Amino acid sequence: MTPRPGAERSTDSYLPAHGNGGYRVVHYDLELDYRIVSNRLGGRAVVTAVADEPLSRFTLDMGRLRVSDVRVGGRPARFSQRPGKLRITPAQPVAGHFVAEIRYAGKPVPIPGRWGDIGWDELTDGVLVASQPIGAPSWFPCDDRPAAKAAFRVTITAPTPYTVVVTGDLVGRRRGAGTTTWMYERAEPTSPYLMSVQIGRYELIDLVPGGAVRQRAAVPPRLRRRFAHDFGRHGEIMTALEGFFGPYPFREYVVVVADDDLDDPVEAQGMAVFGKNHVDGRRTHERLVAHELAHQWFGNSLTVADWRHIWLNEGFATYAEWLWSGVRGGLSAATQAAQWHARLAIRPSAIRVADPGVDNMFDPMVYKRGALTLHALRVEIGDELFFRMVRGWVADHQHATVTGEQFRAYAQSYTPKPLGALFTAWLDRPALPPLPRR
Ligand SMILES: [Zn+2]
Repeated sequence: MTPRPGAERSTDSYLPAHGNGGYRVVHYDLELDYRIVSNRLGGRAVVTAVADEPLSRFTLDMGRLRVSDVRVGGRPARFSQRPGKLRITPAQPVAGHFVAEIRYAGKPVPIPGRWGDIGWDELTDGVLVASQPIGAPSWFPCDDRPAAKAAFRVTITAPTPYTVVVTGDLVGRRRGAGTTTWMYERAEPTSPYLMSVQIGRYELIDLVPGGAVRQRAAVPPRLRRRFAHDFGRHGEIMTALEGFFGPYPFREYVVVVADDDLDDPVEAQGMAVFGKNHVDGRRTHERLVAHELAHQWFGNSLTVADWRHIWLNEGFATYAEWLWSGVRGGLSAATQAAQWHARLAIRPSAIRVADPGVDNMFDPMVYKRGALTLHALRVEIGDELFFRMVRGWVADHQHATVTGEQFRAYAQSYTPKPLGALFTAWLDRPALPPLPRR
């Protein structure tokens, strides 16, 4: 076959400028050095990929960091950068398995977009990385599509007083002169947007000593007491969600509380990041603790194949809030569903949940109506079948990518009752259907 250039766009229906074509990344090995005071990040990314067909050149998504050297298969390659993309022309076309080594450096800045600035972000005293949906290239060259999952190894050297938490297992830590090198491995397939680095003056706490899933936290020491109260039921939330959704999909979970305010907490692989404003010593934000934990099943293990299907992430995470409320003795999921239905009923809605449009991806309507869709389905098929179906859905698609169409077909496979009209009314039409009652 004649080598051809790989596509410089993806097939994602909402964010085609992110992601590339012609190859699949299987592993990223990032070796980085970060200076807090000067906000300077430098290092090397070794990207192991498989070309679908012989490629004369290919692209990776890359933010504002400057690339100084690229090698493919160990040989120097030509490269150029334009906003958002690194184009690589290897000395010889690549075919099958190939390895690209990219050296780069600069001051990392978040990537601006319609949702604000996303990605590598300097805090008052540290770093927070929250990349959904377009921030990953702010700190490493990648194929930035949710479906492009790969394994990772991340090594970061940073000044010693700081704790560096990366999504993954800590496999090594080495002290140098004034710096510490932290090595993390993430073996499960992970979307680039779900990789995260958190750097701060954190105390590491075991959230649930002796739990089957290791649950830890990185917290500014002065917030420790309030945090201990607010996250005191974390083990119970984990047990409850495992009961509803099946086994937690990763080996560990770490909660990071940044010493800055955040609008909303954010999920990463095996991690959730909260702001100091979410810790008030009164459990005001406990519903968000359940929400972020639920994303480990819905979003992180089961990842949307295209951003269009975002309701599968947010609908389930919102429904998890309602389920946890019932478990802890608050309002039941049915009552929460009825209350939210009443609130949505008096608002005009032009959003189709199954395909809300890129500007409405994170609209609260997608979250609440996504959860209402699940509740309507539960009422329609009954509790026993609904939760058996949900656990099957999770188990059968673990660490894979999913679509809304797959979910509808999967739910239908559990019952002879036709579900098409229910899904059409809730997901495909803007008008709010009546909430079914038992
Ligand atoms: Zn969410």
